[in-house]
Amino acid sequence: MRILVSGAGIAGLAAGINLGATGNDVTIVERANHLRVNGSPIDVRGDALDVARSMGVLGQVHARRVTMTERSQFIDAHGTVVAELPVSEINDSEHDIEIPREDLAHILHEALIPTTPLVFGESIAELHDDGAGVDVTFASGRQDRFDLVIGADGMHSLTRRLTFGPESDYLKHLGFYVALTDLPAARQNGDRTSPFLNWPGHMIGIARYNDTALGVLSFRSDWIDYDYHDLDAQKQILLDAFAGHDEWRVPEILDAVRNDPELYFDSVSQIHMSTWHRGRVVLVGDAAHCTSNLSGRGASLAITGTWLLAQALHNHPADLEAAFEEYENNQRPYVTRAQDSVGPGGDLIMPATQEALDARNERLRAMTRG
Ligand SMILES: Cc1cc2nc3c(=O)[nH]c(=O)nc-3n(C[C@H](O)[C@H](O)[C@H](O)COP(=O)(O)OP(=O)(O)OC[C@H]3O[C@@H](n4cnc5c(N)ncnc54)[C@H](O)[C@@H]3O)c2cc1C
Repeated sequence: MRILVSGAGIAGLAAGINLGATGNDVTIVERANHLRVNGSPIDVRGDALDVARSMGVLGQVHARRVTMTERSQFIDAHGTVVAELPVSEINDSEHDIEIPREDLAHILHEALIPTTPLVFGESIAELHDDGAGVDVTFASGRQDRFDLVIGADGMHSLTRRLTFGPESDYLKHLGFYVALTDLPAARQNGDRTSPFLNWPGHMIGIARYNDTALGVLSFRSDWIDYDYHDLDAQKQILLDAFAGHDEWRVPEILDAVRNDPELYFDSVSQIHMSTWHRGRVVLVGDAAHCTSNLSGRGASLAITGTWLLAQALHNHPADLEAAFEEYENNQRPYVTRAQDSVGPGGDLIMPATQEALDARNERLRAMTRG
């Protein structure tokens, strides 16, 4: 089959590998003009580890694992540690692998078969599914026809909007925003800790792993309307949310936000859909079922989902409907479990009140004491 994949994140790259391996002719388009490799370390866990083995990348994933959560600490305004976050609060099992998002993206990119074109700076503009194929007009004006279009373009998926309707029909905002910014100055002093400062409804800190330091900012808020592609608007939202605080290293992290051309900022939200396919268009990864970063399962679901889709298409070469049904039946239990698991995550890292913050710290201190 001739397959177009929209998006070269973890889901898009995994789709390219898994569908290429089952004999399809895959093209990937990515809106950015480079692989988007920022982000904090993400987890590969559960069945995704077996799928990574089948994809031939498990060895490399193991080799680049990090253990940053062992060093996460909550601090007060003077930088004094008030509580530590035990690994047991984060990971499901000792077999989970935490790997820089950047490394996972590069490993998957390198594992694409050489005949899979990855076109940067390109995006779908229009889709027309006539039942026998999908005519695609790209933002560049180029036109092409595919047997299948896969939306792997993330939580704010354009493929989903063009095929299934407005994002607001599917997005459930969990009441938080999160941002990550490069913090080069914090790499240099040999410090291996990851300190986080809270005040009610806010968290700001430094995540360190390997030779990288990231500023992490998160705050509670109702839904905010802004243009997802407007970096200046994103920066202003963050600066407003953290205004009036100059304790600890807050000013330094806010300066990094101001100067970062690759800032990652998004709402902590989930995507809930009753089906992930329509005609010859199917969604994978966050586009279909974003679980939010609080679940720690987005990358794993992207990997297993694309593998399940590739297997289903392979099992039903002449019956797309049957293939999509098999894919959805197999993938949905993982998604439901992940989406249901996020409940207390925000309360742990960002309690809403001073009382809840004090109680969180006391609970973590008791756990550390054993
Ligand atoms: C820059 C970035 C940083 C992230 N950091 C974290 C993190 O620190 N922690 C965490 O838990 N999760 C993070 N995530 C989300 C995490 O990667 C996903 O939950 C998970 O890996 C599933 O990935 P996905 O490929 O479905 O979606 P995504 O990782 O969001 O990838 C979607 C891709 O599609 C591209 N795209 C978007 N629109 C279009 C379009 N119209 N046409 C073509 N391409 C398009 C995007 O540029 C992106 O490369 C991050 C995502 C991104 C994009």
